[in-house]
Amino acid sequence: MIIVMDAGATKEQTDEVIRRIKEIGYTPHIIQGVERNIIGAVGDERGKARLQSLESLPGVESVVPILKPYKLTSRQVKPENSIISIGDLKIGGDNIIIIAGPCSVESMEQLMEAARAVKDAGAQILRGGAFKPRTSPYSFQGMEEEGLKILAEVRNETGLPFVTEVMNPREVGLVADYTDIVQVGARNVQNFSLLKELGGVDKPILLKRGLMTTIKEFLMAAEYILSEGNHEVILCERGIRTFETATRNTLDLGAIPVLKQETHLPIIVDPSHATGNWRYVEPMSRAAIAAGADGLMIEVHPRPEEAFSDGSQSLKPKKFTALMNNLRPFVKAAGRTM
Ligand code: PEP
Ligand code: MN
Repeated sequence: MIIVMDAGATKEQTDEVIRRIKEIGYTPHIIQGVERNIIGAVGDERGKARLQSLESLPGVESVVPILKPYKLTSRQVKPENSIISIGDLKIGGDNIIIIAGPCSVESMEQLMEAARAVKDAGAQILRGGAFKPRTSPYSFQGMEEEGLKILAEVRNETGLPFVTEVMNPREVGLVADYTDIVQVGARNVQNFSLLKELGGVDKPILLKRGLMTTIKEFLMAAEYILSEGNHEVILCERGIRTFETATRNTLDLGAIPVLKQETHLPIIVDPSHATGNWRYVEPMSRAAIAAGADGLMIEVHPRPEEAFSDGSQSLKPKKFTALMNNLRPFVKAAGRTM
């Protein structure tokens, strides 16, 4: 249920509503709006009638049911866009955010070279996997904590915040200690124990859509994180599996306007994993911006032919710089800044 407070509701009135929500056995989530505050009361169906009666309390404008299965994630609960801050950067506002870097952290030299190149081209956030979810157990599995240390050192040198993946609930604390944004990969989007663990972390989460995840399932996965108290979730469309084999996955551009309608969370697009081929990354980047994405995550490697993973979809720094320059007019046409 949503408890919509009056525009002039006092702190005491709001506190009383929160106290009553807890008494009924629900968890209150306060969502601060521009004009008025909204309190999302989340719990099972049984206390619904008692919650409805809160409508008679002073300071309460109305109590309305949340119609969607995802509650805190839905636009009904929070009509305005969520903006997630990483230092001075804002994800979900007018500015398009570009995250770029190699698939995997391979060495200090490789990451430093990639970071300097993407920064020069205008990227604001570095990416690089230290724990890699590979299809084969015989493929490179990532540098693990050593990789996290390299990421942190490159951040010190370049000033670029970074995003890196966590695969296992046991490693959430470790990864969250190092990183600016914690990534959940496509294969873990419905790893509910991992999602619950991330709900208790005070770092933003970049949640990737799974290969076989419907939009509703994707939003329910985000709901796991929000319902545990972490409201800083960035959604990432990275292609889904279809009958088409010409591209690695099929980029679901239609998901962007649907997600924009359904949720207040920012949405970025990863055209690298979506296409699996560096040649298609630029056109899909433009398309994603046209469709309303808030940012892009792009794989860039100083020498893709030597990459330990995903070389075929990684752009060389020069190609990435060209992509960034070619993207600017599209960003402007979409009414955004870059
Ligand atoms: C990645 O971004 O490094 C990655 C493994 O992507 P995905 O989980 O989307 O396959
Ligand atoms: Mn990759």
